[in-house]
Amino acid sequence: MNAYDYDLFVIGGGSGGVRASRMAAAAGARVAIAEEHAFGGTCVIRGCIPKKLFVYASHYMEDFEDAGGFGWTVPRPKFDWNVLVANKNKEIGRLEGLYRENVSKAGVEIVMERAEFADPHTILLKKSGRTVTAKHILIATGGRPSRNTGDCSGAEHAITSNEAFYLDKLPRRVMVAGGGYIAVEFANIFHGLGAEVTLVYRRDKILRGFDEDMRDCLTEAMTKKGIRIVTNRVFKRLDKRGDELFALTDHGEMLEADAVMLAIGRVPNTDGLGLDKAGVEIGERGEVKVDDFSKSNVDHIYAIGDVTDRIQLTPVAIHEAMAFVKTVFEGKPTPVDHRLVPSAVFSQPEIGTVGLTEAAALAAGHSIDVYTSRFRPLKHTLSGRQERSFFKMIVDAVTGQVLGCHIFGADAAEMIQVVAVAMKMGATKADFDATVALHPSAAEELVTMRSKSYSKAPAH
Ligand code: NDP
Repeated sequence: MNAYDYDLFVIGGGSGGVRASRMAAAAGARVAIAEEHAFGGTCVIRGCIPKKLFVYASHYMEDFEDAGGFGWTVPRPKFDWNVLVANKNKEIGRLEGLYRENVSKAGVEIVMERAEFADPHTILLKKSGRTVTAKHILIATGGRPSRNTGDCSGAEHAITSNEAFYLDKLPRRVMVAGGGYIAVEFANIFHGLGAEVTLVYRRDKILRGFDEDMRDCLTEAMTKKGIRIVTNRVFKRLDKRGDELFALTDHGEMLEADAVMLAIGRVPNTDGLGLDKAGVEIGERGEVKVDDFSKSNVDHIYAIGDVTDRIQLTPVAIHEAMAFVKTVFEGKPTPVDHRLVPSAVFSQPEIGTVGLTEAAALAAGHSIDVYTSRFRPLKHTLSGRQERSFFKMIVDAVTGQVLGCHIFGADAAEMIQVVAVAMKMGATKADFDATVALHPSAAEELVTMRSKSYSKAPAH
């Protein structure tokens, strides 16, 4: 007789929770997963997937413009926001169904209600009032957009990315607060769809933490397109009058818009989860504190994905899920590997990045050789678009190992994924040089940057 109802109870049906539940079931465990809204989590329902669909939608504006140089006459394009939202909703619904079906097919029991800890091994299911017990519990409850604007009054009038996916109509004027992934991506999306966009960021340059050249390239490109970037400002007050919003900045300016979107980070979903009843420790931002194996301070309770506030990316949550299952259910203790995680900003054009920035490489004590290439993409020789791509490779001057690669330009996300494989294998600049180029492509720049642009040594 089993001492517990389940070997594993997973709280949260997002990318991490779903993967962990399926793999654990495949390893022979008796598994249940609770989800209070919809399967797929942030990524599928209100994140990566709908965002990328919106990015595609918003890019058509430039595609229509570019077509002229290739001989096409395009009648004045007209955009219908409601068609985009409806089609997106349909696709998200389909994906949600697939996620649910795959969980079910794997033999995992689905519990469609909120789950909270009653004690370290007991879960209370809120809707039904049932309690169940589990030998292991995995917290995979993700995160949510932060609304912590400090002392800005009227912030409740602002939307976040959650609402941006479901607006009744496309706002004519949008103000986006923040300078990270979401702010930049949505500023580009709204602009591409035809809105007048102002991005308001609290420091002096967007995308803090990214390589300086990437930050500069994107700032320039967005500004050239007509996206207004207002730096060193935060909102102090938001007033709503009729359909209009008036934002007072800390410098006393009054900015007007039809929608204000907060993209000021995401916070872990641990509120009301009963973690205190299970004795699970959380950190300053409410994140579940875990070790390299995603184990909390309680031996049988683990946490993965955004709720741990390590790297907030879907593939990282999935990687953590797999490492967790190997460790707990397959007898192969596997720490998570957060090295060389590639990521992309789906701006227009995109940024793709993996490894160290120039500043981080120097800070880590590397003497570096830097290879760069700035060029006009072939397509734009006929389209006439004044857009430049920028490739940058940071190489350890002593070992020749590629420490970081940063790409600004169309398809940067696609390229950087493959560069990440080479870097994970320890590729050196000589390996890139020894690879024959594929012509004509943008990616060939990666293997043809022969002479270094400059070298730098770390400050002592
Ligand atoms: P980020 O952490 O990327 O950026 C948050 C931004 O908000 C920063 O510019 C930050 O400024 C600013 N900020 C924070 N607090 C305040 C405040 N109180 N007032 C004004 N500005 C503030 O978070 P996002 O919300 O953009 O995205 C969350 C996470 O989701 C990302 O870190 C990323 O991991 C993931 N994501 C990934 C995507 C992708 O892979 N393409 C797309 C979307 C999200 P400062 O720089 O000063 O800290």
